[in-house]
Amino acid sequence: MPKEEEQVCCICDKKFKGYGNNPEPIKSEGRCCDECNETVVIKARIEKIMDSWIEEGA
Ligand SMILES: [Zn+2]
Repeated sequence: MPKEEEQVCCICDKKFKGYGNNPEPIKSEGRCCDECNETVVIKARIEKIMDSWIEEGA
């Protein structure tokens, strides 16, 4: 796959270039842009980890 191939973000529907990012746990398939990765996906992952800690401690 060429590095500069244009893709559509599965979260914000904006076009972006490059490989994109894994959108889990927001979406189970597709790729998301760097912006969504930083603002939405990483946050959701942290929240998910925090939830699992809370469950373990209960
Ligand atoms: Zn996006």
